[in-house]
Amino acid sequence: MASISLRSLTKRFGTTVAVNNLNLDLEEGELVALLGPSGCGKTTTLRMIAGFEEADSGTISFGGRDVTSLPPERRNTGMVFQNYALFPHLTVAQNVAFGLEMRKVPKAEIARRVDAILDKVQLRELADRYPRQLSGGQQQRTALARALVINPSVLLLDEPLANLDAKLREEMRFYIRSLQQEFGITTVYVTHDQSEALVLADRIAVMKDGVLQQVGTPTDIYQRPGNAWVADFIGLTNLVPGVITDREGSRVLVDTDLGVLSGTGSDGLRTGDQVLLSIRPESLRITSGTDTAHPGDTLDGAERNRLVGVVRERAYLGNLVDYRIEVGERVRLRVQTAPVPAYDVGDRVVLSFSDDQAWVVSDEGSVSRGDHRAEAALA
Ligand code: ATP
Repeated sequence: MASISLRSLTKRFGTTVAVNNLNLDLEEGELVALLGPSGCGKTTTLRMIAGFEEADSGTISFGGRDVTSLPPERRNTGMVFQNYALFPHLTVAQNVAFGLEMRKVPKAEIARRVDAILDKVQLRELADRYPRQLSGGQQQRTALARALVINPSVLLLDEPLANLDAKLREEMRFYIRSLQQEFGITTVYVTHDQSEALVLADRIAVMKDGVLQQVGTPTDIYQRPGNAWVADFIGLTNLVPGVITDREGSRVLVDTDLGVLSGTGSDGLRTGDQVLLSIRPESLRITSGTDTAHPGDTLDGAERNRLVGVVRERAYLGNLVDYRIEVGERVRLRVQTAPVPAYDVGDRVVLSFSDDQAWVVSDEGSVSRGDHRAEAALA
Protein backbone atom coordinates (compact mmCIF):
# COMPACT_ATOMS: atom_id res chain seq x y z
CA MET A 1 0.00 0.00 0.00
CA ALA A 2 1.14 3.54 -0.66
CA SER A 3 0.01 7.11 -0.28
CA ILE A 4 -1.11 8.86 -3.46
CA SER A 5 -0.26 12.41 -4.39
CA LEU A 6 -1.71 14.24 -7.40
CA ARG A 7 -0.08 17.57 -8.20
CA SER A 8 -1.50 20.11 -10.68
CA LEU A 9 -2.93 17.30 -12.80
CA THR A 10 -4.48 18.52 -16.06
CA LYS A 11 -5.97 16.61 -18.99
CA ARG A 12 -7.58 18.09 -22.10
CA PHE A 13 -9.51 16.36 -24.86
CA GLY A 14 -9.58 18.87 -27.73
CA THR A 15 -11.18 21.96 -26.25
CA THR A 16 -12.61 20.09 -23.22
CA VAL A 17 -10.59 20.44 -20.04
CA ALA A 18 -11.56 17.11 -18.50
CA VAL A 19 -9.38 17.60 -15.40
CA ASN A 20 -8.19 21.06 -14.48
CA ASN A 21 -5.17 21.55 -12.21
CA LEU A 22 -6.15 18.87 -9.71
CA ASN A 23 -4.29 18.62 -6.39
CA LEU A 24 -5.22 15.76 -4.11
CA ASP A 25 -3.41 13.68 -1.47
CA LEU A 26 -4.46 10.32 -0.08
CA GLU A 27 -2.86 8.95 3.05
CA GLU A 28 -1.79 5.33 3.22
CA GLY A 29 -4.82 3.12 3.74
CA GLU A 30 -7.30 5.91 3.07
CA LEU A 31 -10.39 5.54 0.88
CA VAL A 32 -11.22 8.72 -1.02
CA ALA A 33 -14.34 8.91 -3.17
CA LEU A 34 -14.20 11.05 -6.31
CA LEU A 35 -17.75 12.31 -6.53
CA GLY A 36 -19.44 14.50 -9.10
CA PRO A 37 -21.99 14.58 -11.88
CA SER A 38 -21.49 12.84 -15.21
CA GLY A 39 -18.64 14.34 -17.23
CA CYS A 40 -16.94 16.10 -14.29
CA GLY A 41 -13.63 14.28 -14.88
CA LYS A 42 -13.76 11.47 -12.30
CA THR A 43 -12.97 8.60 -14.64
CA THR A 44 -10.30 10.57 -16.47
CA THR A 45 -8.61 11.21 -13.11
CA LEU A 46 -8.75 7.51 -12.23
CA ARG A 47 -7.42 6.51 -15.64
CA MET A 48 -4.50 8.90 -15.23
CA ILE A 49 -3.71 7.39 -11.83
CA ALA A 50 -3.83 3.91 -13.40
CA GLY A 51 -1.68 5.03 -16.32
CA PHE A 52 -4.29 4.36 -19.04
CA GLU A 53 -4.48 8.06 -19.80
CA GLU A 54 -1.47 10.35 -20.02
CA ALA A 55 -1.67 13.66 -18.15
CA ASP A 56 -1.00 16.82 -20.18
CA SER A 57 0.73 18.28 -17.14
CA GLY A 58 1.18 17.59 -13.47
CA THR A 59 2.56 14.65 -11.52
CA ILE A 60 1.31 11.45 -9.86
CA SER A 61 3.24 9.83 -7.00
CA PHE A 62 2.68 6.63 -5.06
CA GLY A 63 4.41 6.55 -1.70
CA GLY A 64 6.55 9.53 -2.70
CA ARG A 65 7.71 7.82 -5.92
CA ASP A 66 6.90 9.66 -9.15
CA VAL A 67 4.98 7.26 -11.42
CA THR A 68 3.75 9.87 -13.93
CA SER A 69 5.66 8.43 -16.87
CA LEU A 70 5.40 4.74 -15.95
CA PRO A 71 3.17 2.48 -18.07
CA PRO A 72 0.13 0.93 -16.30
CA GLU A 73 1.74 -2.47 -15.80
CA ARG A 74 4.61 -0.91 -13.83
CA ARG A 75 2.42 1.05 -11.42
CA ASN A 76 1.15 -1.96 -9.48
CA THR A 77 -2.45 -0.76 -9.27
CA GLY A 78 -5.47 -3.01 -8.87
CA MET A 79 -8.44 -1.78 -10.86
CA VAL A 80 -12.11 -2.69 -10.89
CA PHE A 81 -14.15 -1.41 -13.82
CA GLN A 82 -17.85 -0.63 -13.91
CA ASN A 83 -18.53 -3.53 -16.29
CA TYR A 84 -15.97 -5.73 -14.41
CA ALA A 85 -14.10 -6.49 -17.68
CA LEU A 86 -13.73 -10.18 -16.80
CA PHE A 87 -12.26 -12.45 -19.49
CA PRO A 88 -15.30 -14.41 -20.73
CA HIS A 89 -13.29 -17.45 -21.84
CA LEU A 90 -11.54 -17.85 -18.47
CA THR A 91 -13.00 -19.33 -15.29
CA VAL A 92 -13.24 -17.38 -12.05
CA ALA A 93 -9.97 -18.90 -10.81
CA GLN A 94 -8.23 -18.26 -14.16
CA ASN A 95 -9.46 -14.65 -14.20
CA VAL A 96 -8.08 -14.12 -10.73
CA ALA A 97 -4.80 -15.89 -11.55
CA PHE A 98 -4.23 -13.84 -14.69
CA GLY A 99 -2.34 -10.92 -13.12
CA LEU A 100 -0.06 -13.29 -11.20
CA GLU A 101 0.72 -15.28 -14.35
CA MET A 102 1.65 -12.06 -16.16
CA ARG A 103 4.03 -11.35 -13.30
CA LYS A 104 5.54 -14.81 -13.69
CA VAL A 105 4.74 -15.82 -10.13
CA PRO A 106 5.53 -19.55 -9.55
CA LYS A 107 2.58 -21.87 -10.19
CA ALA A 108 2.31 -23.21 -6.63
CA GLU A 109 2.22 -19.70 -5.22
CA ILE A 110 -0.42 -18.64 -7.75
CA ALA A 111 -2.63 -21.56 -6.66
CA ARG A 112 -2.17 -20.65 -3.01
CA ARG A 113 -2.88 -16.93 -3.49
CA VAL A 114 -5.89 -17.49 -5.77
CA ASP A 115 -7.32 -19.94 -3.24
CA ALA A 116 -6.83 -17.52 -0.39
CA ILE A 117 -8.43 -14.56 -2.13
CA LEU A 118 -11.37 -16.63 -3.43
CA ASP A 119 -11.92 -17.71 0.14
CA LYS A 120 -11.88 -14.10 1.22
CA VAL A 121 -14.54 -13.07 -1.32
CA GLN A 122 -16.52 -16.29 -0.77
CA LEU A 123 -16.17 -17.59 -4.30
CA ARG A 124 -14.26 -20.79 -3.71
CA GLU A 125 -17.18 -23.00 -4.71
CA LEU A 126 -17.56 -21.08 -7.95
CA ALA A 127 -13.88 -21.15 -8.93
CA ASP A 128 -14.51 -23.24 -12.06
CA ARG A 129 -17.46 -21.28 -13.40
CA TYR A 130 -17.24 -18.87 -16.33
CA PRO A 131 -18.32 -15.23 -15.94
CA ARG A 132 -21.57 -15.83 -17.88
CA GLN A 133 -22.54 -18.39 -15.21
CA LEU A 134 -22.25 -15.81 -12.40
CA SER A 135 -24.67 -13.27 -10.95
CA GLY A 136 -23.75 -9.58 -11.08
CA GLY A 137 -22.62 -9.64 -7.46
CA GLN A 138 -20.46 -12.72 -8.03
CA GLN A 139 -18.86 -11.13 -11.10
CA GLN A 140 -18.21 -8.06 -9.01
CA ARG A 141 -16.46 -10.07 -6.31
CA THR A 142 -14.40 -11.88 -8.96
CA ALA A 143 -13.26 -8.50 -10.27
CA LEU A 144 -12.39 -7.40 -6.74
CA ALA A 145 -10.45 -10.62 -6.13
CA ARG A 146 -8.58 -10.18 -9.41
CA ALA A 147 -7.62 -6.63 -8.40
CA LEU A 148 -6.53 -7.55 -4.88
CA VAL A 149 -4.65 -10.80 -5.54
CA ILE A 150 -1.62 -8.98 -6.96
CA ASN A 151 -1.12 -7.07 -3.68
CA PRO A 152 -1.47 -3.74 -5.44
CA SER A 153 0.03 -0.54 -4.03
CA VAL A 154 -3.28 1.22 -4.65
CA LEU A 155 -6.80 0.08 -5.49
CA LEU A 156 -8.79 1.97 -8.13
CA LEU A 157 -12.52 1.43 -8.36
CA ASP A 158 -14.60 2.93 -11.17
CA GLU A 159 -18.30 2.91 -10.26
CA PRO A 160 -17.92 -0.72 -9.11
CA LEU A 161 -21.52 -1.04 -7.93
CA ALA A 162 -23.30 0.74 -10.77
CA ASN A 163 -24.51 -2.47 -12.43
CA LEU A 164 -26.02 -4.07 -9.33
CA ASP A 165 -29.59 -3.81 -8.12
CA ALA A 166 -30.33 -1.40 -5.27
CA LYS A 167 -30.33 -3.91 -2.42
CA LEU A 168 -27.14 -5.67 -3.46
CA ARG A 169 -25.51 -2.30 -4.06
CA GLU A 170 -26.15 -1.34 -0.46
CA GLU A 171 -24.78 -4.65 0.88
CA MET A 172 -21.70 -4.43 -1.33
CA ARG A 173 -20.86 -0.96 0.00
CA PHE A 174 -20.23 -2.43 3.43
CA TYR A 175 -18.49 -5.42 1.93
CA ILE A 176 -16.06 -3.33 -0.13
CA ARG A 177 -15.41 -1.06 2.83
CA SER A 178 -14.57 -3.94 5.18
CA LEU A 179 -12.37 -5.62 2.55
CA GLN A 180 -10.55 -2.32 1.92
CA GLN A 181 -9.98 -1.81 5.62
CA GLU A 182 -8.84 -5.37 6.16
CA PHE A 183 -6.27 -5.02 3.38
CA GLY A 184 -5.46 -1.47 4.55
CA ILE A 185 -5.16 -0.48 0.92
CA THR A 186 -5.16 3.11 -0.33
CA THR A 187 -8.21 3.38 -2.54
CA VAL A 188 -9.69 5.83 -5.03
CA TYR A 189 -13.38 5.16 -5.55
CA VAL A 190 -15.17 6.87 -8.42
CA THR A 191 -18.90 7.33 -8.05
CA HIS A 192 -21.67 9.71 -8.97
CA ASP A 193 -23.80 8.29 -6.14
CA GLN A 194 -23.51 10.58 -3.15
CA SER A 195 -24.94 8.15 -0.61
CA GLU A 196 -22.34 5.60 -1.71
CA ALA A 197 -19.60 8.19 -1.16
CA LEU A 198 -21.01 9.23 2.23
CA VAL A 199 -21.18 5.63 3.47
CA LEU A 200 -17.86 4.39 2.12
CA ALA A 201 -15.32 7.14 2.11
CA ASP A 202 -12.87 8.45 4.69
CA ARG A 203 -12.92 11.62 2.63
CA ILE A 204 -14.84 12.78 -0.41
CA ALA A 205 -13.38 14.86 -3.25
CA VAL A 206 -16.22 16.65 -5.02
CA MET A 207 -15.58 17.59 -8.67
CA LYS A 208 -17.45 19.74 -11.14
CA ASP A 209 -16.40 20.51 -14.73
CA GLY A 210 -12.92 19.10 -14.13
CA VAL A 211 -12.36 21.31 -11.08
CA LEU A 212 -12.06 20.05 -7.52
CA GLN A 213 -14.71 21.88 -5.46
CA GLN A 214 -14.04 20.54 -1.98
CA VAL A 215 -12.26 17.72 -0.17
CA GLY A 216 -13.43 16.68 3.27
CA THR A 217 -14.90 14.02 5.48
CA PRO A 218 -18.49 13.04 4.71
CA THR A 219 -19.63 15.16 7.68
CA ASP A 220 -17.67 18.18 6.44
CA ILE A 221 -19.06 17.90 2.96
CA TYR A 222 -22.65 17.43 4.13
CA GLN A 223 -22.74 19.86 7.05
CA ARG A 224 -20.21 22.46 5.97
CA PRO A 225 -20.24 22.52 2.17
CA GLY A 226 -17.59 24.81 0.71
CA ASN A 227 -19.85 26.55 -1.77
CA ALA A 228 -23.45 26.75 -2.94
CA TRP A 229 -22.91 24.19 -5.66
CA VAL A 230 -21.62 21.54 -3.23
CA ALA A 231 -24.44 22.35 -0.78
CA ASP A 232 -26.97 21.73 -3.51
CA PHE A 233 -25.23 18.72 -5.05
CA ILE A 234 -24.93 16.76 -1.79
CA GLY A 235 -28.29 15.75 -0.40
CA LEU A 236 -31.32 18.01 -0.41
CA THR A 237 -31.22 21.54 0.83
CA ASN A 238 -33.14 24.81 0.92
CA LEU A 239 -31.04 27.72 -0.30
CA VAL A 240 -32.26 31.12 0.94
CA PRO A 241 -30.47 34.10 -0.63
CA GLY A 242 -29.52 37.19 1.38
CA VAL A 243 -26.84 39.67 2.41
CA ILE A 244 -24.69 39.45 5.53
CA THR A 245 -25.55 42.30 7.91
CA ASP A 246 -23.38 41.30 10.83
CA ARG A 247 -21.14 38.54 12.08
CA GLU A 248 -19.75 37.55 15.43
CA GLY A 249 -17.35 34.64 15.45
CA SER A 250 -18.86 31.94 13.28
CA ARG A 251 -22.41 33.31 13.84
CA VAL A 252 -23.66 35.21 10.78
CA LEU A 253 -26.78 37.40 10.44
CA VAL A 254 -28.29 37.38 6.97
CA ASP A 255 -30.96 39.75 5.68
CA THR A 256 -33.30 37.68 3.48
CA ASP A 257 -36.78 37.95 1.97
CA LEU A 258 -37.89 36.00 5.06
CA GLY A 259 -36.40 38.57 7.46
CA VAL A 260 -33.08 38.50 9.24
CA LEU A 261 -31.98 34.89 9.79
CA SER A 262 -29.05 33.64 11.78
CA GLY A 263 -26.66 30.97 10.57
CA THR A 264 -23.12 29.69 10.83
CA GLY A 265 -20.43 30.37 8.24
CA SER A 266 -16.76 29.97 7.45
CA ASP A 267 -14.16 32.65 8.23
CA GLY A 268 -13.95 34.04 4.72
CA LEU A 269 -17.43 35.62 4.77
CA ARG A 270 -17.76 39.40 5.37
CA THR A 271 -20.53 41.88 6.11
CA GLY A 272 -22.12 42.94 2.81
CA ASP A 273 -21.42 39.58 1.07
CA GLN A 274 -24.19 38.07 -1.05
CA VAL A 275 -24.75 34.62 0.41
CA LEU A 276 -27.08 31.65 0.56
CA LEU A 277 -28.28 30.02 3.75
CA SER A 278 -28.32 26.28 3.25
CA ILE A 279 -30.90 24.66 5.51
CA ARG A 280 -31.39 20.91 5.17
CA PRO A 281 -35.02 19.68 5.08
CA GLU A 282 -34.38 17.54 8.17
CA SER A 283 -33.02 20.54 10.10
CA LEU A 284 -36.33 22.40 10.07
CA ARG A 285 -38.67 21.75 13.00
CA ILE A 286 -42.34 22.04 12.32
CA THR A 287 -45.02 22.92 14.91
CA SER A 288 -48.66 24.04 14.73
CA GLY A 289 -49.26 27.69 13.91
CA THR A 290 -52.24 29.87 14.75
CA ASP A 291 -55.12 30.37 12.33
CA THR A 292 -54.52 34.10 12.13
CA ALA A 293 -50.84 33.98 11.22
CA HIS A 294 -49.85 34.22 7.56
CA PRO A 295 -46.70 33.34 5.67
CA GLY A 296 -44.20 36.16 5.99
CA ASP A 297 -45.67 37.42 9.29
CA THR A 298 -43.16 38.47 11.90
CA LEU A 299 -43.73 36.58 15.11
CA ASP A 300 -44.20 39.01 18.01
CA GLY A 301 -41.18 39.03 20.28
CA ALA A 302 -40.12 35.79 18.66
CA GLU A 303 -36.62 34.50 18.73
CA ARG A 304 -34.76 34.37 15.43
CA ASN A 305 -35.14 31.63 12.89
CA ARG A 306 -38.88 31.10 13.32
CA LEU A 307 -41.02 31.36 10.21
CA VAL A 308 -44.78 31.26 9.80
CA GLY A 309 -45.92 29.06 6.94
CA VAL A 310 -48.73 27.15 5.27
CA VAL A 311 -48.44 23.55 4.11
CA ARG A 312 -48.81 23.58 0.31
CA GLU A 313 -47.79 20.01 -0.51
CA ARG A 314 -47.11 16.85 1.41
CA ALA A 315 -45.73 13.49 0.31
CA TYR A 316 -45.89 10.49 2.62
CA LEU A 317 -42.67 8.47 2.30
CA GLY A 318 -43.32 5.88 5.00
CA ASN A 319 -40.53 6.67 7.43
CA LEU A 320 -40.99 10.42 6.97
CA VAL A 321 -43.15 13.07 5.40
CA ASP A 322 -41.84 15.50 2.80
CA TYR A 323 -43.57 18.89 3.02
CA ARG A 324 -43.43 22.03 0.86
CA ILE A 325 -44.19 24.91 3.18
CA GLU A 326 -44.92 28.40 1.90
CA VAL A 327 -43.13 30.80 4.22
CA GLY A 328 -43.27 34.02 2.25
CA GLU A 329 -44.46 35.43 -1.01
CA ARG A 330 -43.34 32.93 -3.66
CA VAL A 331 -40.98 31.17 -1.22
CA ARG A 332 -41.40 27.52 -0.28
CA LEU A 333 -39.16 25.50 1.98
CA ARG A 334 -38.85 21.75 1.91
CA VAL A 335 -39.18 20.03 5.29
CA GLN A 336 -38.70 16.35 6.02
CA THR A 337 -39.88 15.08 9.36
CA ALA A 338 -41.37 12.11 11.19
CA PRO A 339 -44.92 11.24 10.07
CA VAL A 340 -46.36 12.03 13.52
CA PRO A 341 -47.77 14.54 14.22
CA ALA A 342 -49.10 14.91 10.70
CA TYR A 343 -49.95 18.23 9.05
CA ASP A 344 -52.33 18.57 6.15
CA VAL A 345 -52.25 20.76 3.08
CA GLY A 346 -53.59 24.16 4.16
CA ASP A 347 -52.47 23.83 7.81
CA ARG A 348 -50.73 26.83 9.31
CA VAL A 349 -47.43 25.93 10.86
CA VAL A 350 -44.33 27.46 12.39
CA LEU A 351 -40.90 26.39 11.14
CA SER A 352 -37.82 26.87 13.25
CA PHE A 353 -34.16 25.98 13.06
CA SER A 354 -31.07 26.58 15.15
CA ASP A 355 -28.33 28.75 13.73
CA ASP A 356 -25.79 25.92 13.72
CA GLN A 357 -28.15 24.07 11.34
CA ALA A 358 -28.09 26.88 8.78
CA TRP A 359 -24.78 26.89 6.93
CA VAL A 360 -23.97 30.13 5.12
CA VAL A 361 -22.13 29.89 1.81
CA SER A 362 -20.98 32.50 -0.64
CA ASP A 363 -23.40 33.00 -3.53
CA GLU A 364 -20.85 32.44 -6.26
CA GLY A 365 -21.01 30.05 -9.16
CA SER A 366 -24.16 28.53 -10.49
CA VAL A 367 -26.46 26.09 -8.80
CA SER A 368 -27.39 23.73 -11.53
CA ARG A 369 -28.91 20.63 -9.99
CA GLY A 370 -32.15 20.22 -8.08
CA ASP A 371 -32.15 24.01 -7.72
CA HIS A 372 -34.19 24.66 -4.57
CA ARG A 373 -33.41 28.33 -4.81
CA ALA A 374 -35.24 28.28 -8.12
CA GLU A 375 -38.05 26.43 -6.42
CA ALA A 376 -38.13 29.11 -3.76
CA ALA A 377 -38.21 31.86 -6.36
CA LEU A 378 -40.87 30.25 -8.52
CA ALA A 379 -43.22 28.92 -5.86
P1 ATP B 1 -19.20 9.74 -16.00
O1 ATP B 1 -19.69 9.68 -14.58
O2 ATP B 1 -20.27 9.99 -16.99
O3 ATP B 1 -18.32 8.57 -16.35
P2 ATP B 1 -16.87 11.37 -15.48
O4 ATP B 1 -16.98 12.34 -14.38
O5 ATP B 1 -16.13 10.11 -15.20
O6 ATP B 1 -18.28 11.06 -16.10
P3 ATP B 1 -14.98 11.71 -17.62
O7 ATP B 1 -15.32 10.42 -18.26
O8 ATP B 1 -13.70 11.81 -16.89
O9 ATP B 1 -16.16 12.18 -16.66
O10 ATP B 1 -15.05 12.85 -18.72
C1 ATP B 1 -14.72 14.20 -18.48
C2 ATP B 1 -14.88 14.99 -19.77
O11 ATP B 1 -13.92 14.59 -20.71
C3 ATP B 1 -16.23 14.82 -20.42
O12 ATP B 1 -16.62 16.05 -20.99
C4 ATP B 1 -15.96 13.79 -21.51
O13 ATP B 1 -16.85 13.95 -22.59
C5 ATP B 1 -14.54 14.12 -21.91
N1 ATP B 1 -13.81 12.92 -22.35
C6 ATP B 1 -13.50 11.84 -21.61
N2 ATP B 1 -12.79 10.95 -22.33
C7 ATP B 1 -12.65 11.47 -23.58
C8 ATP B 1 -12.02 11.03 -24.79
N3 ATP B 1 -11.35 9.87 -24.84
N4 ATP B 1 -12.11 11.84 -25.87
C9 ATP B 1 -12.74 13.03 -25.81
N5 ATP B 1 -13.35 13.51 -24.71
C10 ATP B 1 -13.32 12.76 -23.60
